[in-house]
Amino acid sequence: MTNNVPRRQLLKFLGMSILGTSFSSCITSPARAASVNWGYIGKAGPEHWDELSPEFQLCGIGRQQTPIDLQVADVKNVTNHDLLSVNYQPTALHLINNGKTVQVNYQAGSYLKFGQQQFELIQFHFHHFSEHRLNGKSYDMELHLVHRSPNGNLAVVAVFLEAGKFNPTLQIIWDAIPQQQGLETRIEDINIDVSRFLPAKHSFFAYTGSLTTPPCSENVLWCVMETPIEASIAQIAQFSQTFPLNARPLQPLNDRLVMEFI
Ligand SMILES: [Zn+2]
Repeated sequence: MTNNVPRRQLLKFLGMSILGTSFSSCITSPARAASVNWGYIGKAGPEHWDELSPEFQLCGIGRQQTPIDLQVADVKNVTNHDLLSVNYQPTALHLINNGKTVQVNYQAGSYLKFGQQQFELIQFHFHHFSEHRLNGKSYDMELHLVHRSPNGNLAVVAVFLEAGKFNPTLQIIWDAIPQQQGLETRIEDINIDVSRFLPAKHSFFAYTGSLTTPPCSENVLWCVMETPIEASIAQIAQFSQTFPLNARPLQPLNDRLVMEFI
């Protein structure tokens, strides 16, 4: 199964990611916390999230927080081509401008498998600039594909976006971003296929982290794709006009293990 990481260590890592934790509060925050006006600058910014609500405590005291700087020198390499697999289907375009990002809600039937555990794709959304860094390098944007297992665990696949070629799939979303916040727009005659956002090369980093927005719940399995995809400068500018900054600053790695699957 593995080449250069002790099997015991890998199992420990996998065990960390499948420990049961309820994430009911992550996607839909509790009523009280949901009304808290958090943001990315000033008194509502990331340095103050933990002061805004008792339910946001982990944003300040959590030891497994996301995002992190992925330093290749720190990671353990594992050759395993079968650990992560996806089965994504096209979905009708249901999207929402929630005031923090544009989120595409995915219909049932698309899955990610990590080891033996299956997670259903429930939504994806975007950050500007990237939240993770790779060897200290920040990217223009970062896409998060959020999945949930039947017992409520979360797994997020992150894909960096960098300036380059025009991205037709991205433009379908950009053209449909609702200006009005908080209402889901349903465009049933436009299909979107999230698999078009995956880079051709599937090597990725995996570690146990958190949501990057309040309540910063932990025990989230993160799979950060190593190879970025491209979007044009104009497309990146179009997103950043609506969302100038929606990236949480880097968090300490602490004693976590980061693995690179190639
Ligand atoms: Zn995100």
